[in-house]
Amino acid sequence: MPSAIAPHVTTPLPIFDPISPAGSLVEQPLLTATRPFHVMTKPIGPICNLDCRYCFYLEKEKLYHHERKWKMSDDVLESYVRQYIAAQPVREVSFAFQGGEPTLLGVDYFRKVVELQRKHANGKRITNALQTNGTLLDDEWCEFLAKEKFLVGLSVDGPDKLHDVYRVDKQQKPTFDLVWRGLKLLKKHGVEFNTLTVVNRANSKEPLKVYKFLREFGSGFMQFIPLVERTYTGTELPLDLAPPVDPGEEADRSPVTDWSVESRPFGKFLTTIFDDWVRRDVGKIFVQTFDVALGNWAGAPPSLCVFAPTCGHALAVEHNGDVYSCDHYVYPKYKLGNFTETPLATLVELPFQKKFGQDKLDALPRYCRECEVRFACHGECPKHRFIRTPDGDPGLNYLCAGYKQFFTHVDPYMKAMAEFLRRKQAPATIMTLLREGWKPDVPTARR
Ligand code: SF4
Ligand code: SF4
Repeated sequence: MPSAIAPHVTTPLPIFDPISPAGSLVEQPLLTATRPFHVMTKPIGPICNLDCRYCFYLEKEKLYHHERKWKMSDDVLESYVRQYIAAQPVREVSFAFQGGEPTLLGVDYFRKVVELQRKHANGKRITNALQTNGTLLDDEWCEFLAKEKFLVGLSVDGPDKLHDVYRVDKQQKPTFDLVWRGLKLLKKHGVEFNTLTVVNRANSKEPLKVYKFLREFGSGFMQFIPLVERTYTGTELPLDLAPPVDPGEEADRSPVTDWSVESRPFGKFLTTIFDDWVRRDVGKIFVQTFDVALGNWAGAPPSLCVFAPTCGHALAVEHNGDVYSCDHYVYPKYKLGNFTETPLATLVELPFQKKFGQDKLDALPRYCRECEVRFACHGECPKHRFIRTPDGDPGLNYLCAGYKQFFTHVDPYMKAMAEFLRRKQAPATIMTLLREGWKPDVPTARR
């Protein structure tokens, strides 16, 4: 039941005295959370103009099968902007919009977003990020994005032949040329952008083609997101892709889809790109996985939930105000509530959500606890933990072999770069070291 409060919310919610209603919506009191949190905002729910074959979000439409208006309404949007800004216990507040495809809402919708942010900023600094497939961008969009300093995340899976394997439109036609057009417009207007590449069965086999293409594409900041989905064999949900396995629960036998990346090829993909990057691009090109890894080697707090010991501070908000534990956990069981009925700051701090984040650590199998690269991996995302360890314990990450290979491979390089950082030298110094003939002692991953 998508609109019902999830059955896991067993503790009674605090009772608040609502302020007088604006329109039909009862305004929630402005509460502040005890720590900052991130929300993936989906103002158009799962609606998209494309039909990427691997998309895990398109089918979320079936969870809202009564829905006719896939657009966060003006009053829900204002309530969200107001509450989200007030809920952050920091001076800088970052909004992130995703979909579906948020540009389907049109530029005027986002003009309104920015207006509302100014109205409710209350002295805080606001930043915006927009994740897009880039196919609907035009001059008007790019002028707006540049003027309002939006950071744009552009989804691109590599050069045309690799991108178009899965990223097709509703007529199943390739989309690369439209993304390329969008990129040129972003550059023309000086919009700050980065790239998001879904590492799938096809492009994982061509790491250097993907990396060199993105470098030439002009991406100075690359995100590589592994694609891991299983075909749903259950009957409780009207979905084709399986929900994550709960901690401590036995994984069902749902098979991994044939577009998902395989574990070792994913490790090889990262390792191959790393070897090129570490010799010529350190300090010039920012690859999120490498940067977060370096942070972990240098002892900095992990900046990405998947490589942190615990999580639970990156939630998702649907178009109607429903709040979920995480963008990857948009299932009825993980619905925390709706911020038009319960203050956002209260939902974020529900015991259920705290446990959700803590389970990432508590449910780690012994195999991970004893792993040499645990400090860098932390068992990655719980959504991917559905295989057994060699000792037969459940809850091992499907990508384990690949991560072990990658983190073991980069260890000597990371140690060297972390040492440069300690000496207040640039990590890019490693490129000089390598040019001068330094040969890192790269161990082989044990499994
Ligand atoms: S479930 Fe995965 S993606 Fe979601 S917050 Fe936790 S680590 Fe991050
Ligand atoms: S590499 Fe494998 S064993 Fe090590 S922490 Fe990651 S998932 Fe666990």
